[in-house]
Amino acid sequence: MHELAVTESIIRICCEEANRHKVQRVLEVRLEVGELKGLIPDCIQYYFDIASKGTPAEGARLIINKIPITMRCRNCGEESEAAPSINFTCRNCGGKDFKMVKGNEFLIQSLEVE
Ligand SMILES: [Zn+2]
Repeated sequence: MHELAVTESIIRICCEEANRHKVQRVLEVRLEVGELKGLIPDCIQYYFDIASKGTPAEGARLIINKIPITMRCRNCGEESEAAPSINFTCRNCGGKDFKMVKGNEFLIQSLEVE
């Protein structure tokens, strides 16, 4: 269900863009999705194909660029790609206090239109 909601918002944006630029069809959609979102690209494409029928986005190909979760050490500023975990320590200073700086993104990078 999560993927379905996400897909509907992608299609809505595609349609708005298509209208604004007076184009008939969207061919390709590039997305940036943070790993924390836990979305499955195949699922998104599957729902997209169903939900985009009859819209300018019908048949468009989704290209999903996954952004790994990145944690920044609050002590020394070192950034590490990692899943948040209680055992995680900074490889630079051994600190345990982190801020997540990447991994929660969800954005449309670009649309290719006809
Ligand atoms: Zn550190």
